[in-house]
Amino acid sequence: MNIEQLIRPDLIGMKAYSSARDEFEGTASVFLDANENPNDNGVNRYPDPLQKSLKAKLATLKETNPENLFLGNGSDECIDLLFRLFCSPGIDTVAAMSPSYGMYSVSARINNVELKEILLNEDFTFSTDRFIEESKGSKLLFLCSPNNPTAFSIPRKEITRIVENFSGIVVLDEAYIDFAKEPGLLGELEKYPNLVICQTLSKAFGLAGIRLGLLFGSKEIISWLNKIKPPYNVNQLTQQFALDYLNNWEKIQSETAEIISERKVLEIALEKYSFVEEVFPSDANFILVRVNDANKLYQYLINRGIVVRNRSTQPLCQNTLRLTVGTAKENQLVLEALNQYQI
Ligand SMILES: *Cc1c(COP(=O)(O)O)cnc(C)c1O
Repeated sequence: MNIEQLIRPDLIGMKAYSSARDEFEGTASVFLDANENPNDNGVNRYPDPLQKSLKAKLATLKETNPENLFLGNGSDECIDLLFRLFCSPGIDTVAAMSPSYGMYSVSARINNVELKEILLNEDFTFSTDRFIEESKGSKLLFLCSPNNPTAFSIPRKEITRIVENFSGIVVLDEAYIDFAKEPGLLGELEKYPNLVICQTLSKAFGLAGIRLGLLFGSKEIISWLNKIKPPYNVNQLTQQFALDYLNNWEKIQSETAEIISERKVLEIALEKYSFVEEVFPSDANFILVRVNDANKLYQYLINRGIVVRNRSTQPLCQNTLRLTVGTAKENQLVLEALNQYQI
């Protein structure tokens, strides 16, 4: 597989912006090279453009190499940079499963790239042969597993079959992988030069506010992304906060376990309501339910001070609400409200 053939032709040969911190790294007693204010307040210096300490820590945690890791200002920046790297505006097309995460189509639109939405089956399962057929000719194919908003995972061997049969780049979004029964595909990345995997610290890690997205891929793709990214896309506060916070690995893991056990509590409770028609099995930190009248129930919950996501306008999602698993106390409040709901 020749990755360079997939890169936007006008980017080939481009030279990256070279910052002061790119041109000199290491120790010195006087730094007069970046026009910073010299008075130390903790953040008066530009951050490390390649986030080396943070990548080293994350790579160890994820059992991969720092050279296979790119960091973005949230996954959303990683997704946008993939469009910029691989897609010529107005020429290339991409494909994405549908219903799925809204940012794929927003990013496609902003980059003037046509998006082909490939529908899941009615029951939200995945038809691999149809996906292989309908994604032909696209530069990128977005797969989300576990998927937002359906909370379903795509079986691993179906994902790899698609990757093997796709001539562009498969972008596998694993934002919710920490809540899934099966491990993700990170361990198999080396076998697939046209696979990139997006993860995030926004969900299981509890760090949505610091905006840190992870993209795993071949060294070649990572070095291309480094070339086209904004020089200081991950700020100093984020790098430092993440480095410190990742020392709490046990806390993060126990919170994930707690959310998974609360998910079970909610799933069982939701099944019992007469107005709930289907509780879709979840591999994520949210539950999608089909109800008799989603708009009415949504409004009822708002009136009780509880906000869920109405997904009814999404393809195949008529009359569905998406409930994020909250704390035990929050989940109890939702169930109390539902107990008092009059159809
Ligand atoms: C929440 C979510 C993300 C996370 O995006 P960030 O920009 O990293 O916060 C990515 N993909 C999917 C499918 C999501 O639901």
